[in-house]
Amino acid sequence: MMNGVVRRRIHVTAISSDNVVGLLRRLELYDDVVKGKITCFICKTIVTLENIGGVTVVGGKAILVCGNPGCIARAAVLSKERQHVTGSDEDR
Ligand SMILES: [Zn+2]
Repeated sequence: MMNGVVRRRIHVTAISSDNVVGLLRRLELYDDVVKGKITCFICKTIVTLENIGGVTVVGGKAILVCGNPGCIARAAVLSKERQHVTGSDEDR
């Protein structure tokens, strides 16, 4: 009998809703998300616990994006680029 769990693989960090609450609490962003004070870094949609797509930390600052695949992909690229140029605000 097959009892394997098939998971979709996506190249960005996927977060479960359980994880995200813990992570947001740690980053002290949970209250702000619940209050609708956080917007998607890419498209400026208000990020809620329902539509949150990802959390990434760039230069010590937490960035949240909505569940839009385009936003998640861009956030992943951004976090990689920024980590590469630590200490620099501008990348040219
Ligand atoms: Zn977005």
